[in-house]
Amino acid sequence: MRCVSMWEPWAWCIFRAGKLVENRPWKLPLGAIVIQAAKRYDESGARYLRQVMGIAVPEARELVMGALVGVVRVVGHTRESGSPWAQPDCWHNLLADPQEFPRRIPWRGRQGVFWVPICETCGAVPETMLLTMPEAERAGWVYAARQWRCQACGAV
Ligand SMILES: [Zn+2]
Repeated sequence: MRCVSMWEPWAWCIFRAGKLVENRPWKLPLGAIVIQAAKRYDESGARYLRQVMGIAVPEARELVMGALVGVVRVVGHTRESGSPWAQPDCWHNLLADPQEFPRRIPWRGRQGVFWVPICETCGAVPETMLLTMPEAERAGWVYAARQWRCQACGAV
């Protein structure tokens, strides 16, 4: 499945605070995409979320960062979303159906849209992904994910 990285606590907000707009200078591909929480925490963003939007976002130490958080669907793009989450002068990628994983899966982020071996057809998460990052890299998972075949349903 495709994956995109974002700083915390913004990734948390998609799954816990109804953030259904992702602001980017570019459009995300339509369809299911995994959200990876980067190891970076946006302190000024967190202050804005608490003070202006009134959302009790967690502190960095309360979050597992450098990890896959869940799946969401990109259902459209506009530059004129009226959502309180929309920021000016960028693409508003419209999201739907956020589904948080039962627990965060440690995984390294990359620039842009990248691939992780989570099945787009059945949602299976291979046991291999529950390895530590160095183990997963040795097993070839991180960079071979594009060619991965699901062991649960056989989808490529
Ligand atoms: Zn599958």
